[in-house]
Amino acid sequence: MINVTQTFLPPIEEFEKILKSAWDKKRVTNRGELLLDLENKLSKYLGITNFFITTNGTLPIQIALKALGITKEVITTPFSYVATTSAIIWENCTPVFVDIEREMLTIDPLKIEAAITENTEAILATHVFGNPCDIDAIEVIAKKHNLKVIYDGAHCFAVKYKGKSIFSYGDIITTSFHATKLFHTGEGGAVFIPNETLYNKCYYHHNFGHNGPLDYHGLGINAKASEMQAAVGLSVLPYIDKIIDKRKMLTEHYETLLQDNLNLELFSFRASTERNYSYMPVILKSEEHLEKVLKHLELLEIFPRRYFYPSLNKLPYLVTSVSMPISEDISKRILCLPLFYELEKAEVTIICNIINSL
Ligand SMILES: *Cc1c(COP(=O)(O)O)cnc(C)c1O
Repeated sequence: MINVTQTFLPPIEEFEKILKSAWDKKRVTNRGELLLDLENKLSKYLGITNFFITTNGTLPIQIALKALGITKEVITTPFSYVATTSAIIWENCTPVFVDIEREMLTIDPLKIEAAITENTEAILATHVFGNPCDIDAIEVIAKKHNLKVIYDGAHCFAVKYKGKSIFSYGDIITTSFHATKLFHTGEGGAVFIPNETLYNKCYYHHNFGHNGPLDYHGLGINAKASEMQAAVGLSVLPYIDKIIDKRKMLTEHYETLLQDNLNLELFSFRASTERNYSYMPVILKSEEHLEKVLKHLELLEIFPRRYFYPSLNKLPYLVTSVSMPISEDISKRILCLPLFYELEKAEVTIICNIINSL
């Protein structure tokens, strides 16, 4: 069986050796040594400071909205994982969808201004599949209308834009270290906050607002990661370059074999982007064709995933219904093909041969 992804896990002894130190100290959470060590190593690897690790990639979106004092309308993308929209609604804010760029699948800055009202307070956009949003255009709009910018960077570990970590652009940037993501801690995530004052606010928010054991700085929630999560991360991190290299090789193999297939389009990346090869999306010519491809691959126990479907403006719990033609069209036709460290080149060839034969 070949799934869309398979979690990378190093030899268990490597994990156990790291975890043992937490066991010996009987310290399993509350920003222990392993967590601090992982933050330190990630800081070096990504070339970035002013972030902390969280227990998943969803709570930091909620913390970001809270810390920025957002209570009204948030302009957002309909093409992302459900967490991007649900975090807005969970925080009692209103998502205002703006359709995506056809080529890039990220929010279309040319359509943002038309969606701005007197209640608009922020833009929350996703660097979907590790492809940067039009950061420069969004920054100009945000400055002009005095809006905060939050990026959901859940797919972006190790992505660079204009030579710098993608996590350095925006007011607050969140990411996920879930087991299905490129770098993972089982469950986990992180939040990057360039501004020092805002960083401190988010930091307090993620630990109940604690300012020492007996004092509270303000309202908080619990988004701390445990030492077990940190140990997973510390055991995975030494392999990350190897993981990315292997995925790059497999991606290039897919791209070579699929480039002449007139029934599908490959995904294009924004200029000045250093990719991380986190997903292998292809856009089929129609939903019927996508279903045919799925059916044939399933016969061989190969299971791509329909990421992202449905378009988020179609979520059943939304109070207002809007139409997002590009996102709705793409979400019906897009498929993420299997891509993970242990996938073999020969398996990619088989997958491509099937797709090309249909
Ligand atoms: C995975 C994901 C999240 C949520 O991350 P968790 O760590 O699972 O909470 C948020 N946004 C996007 C775009 C994602 O893909």
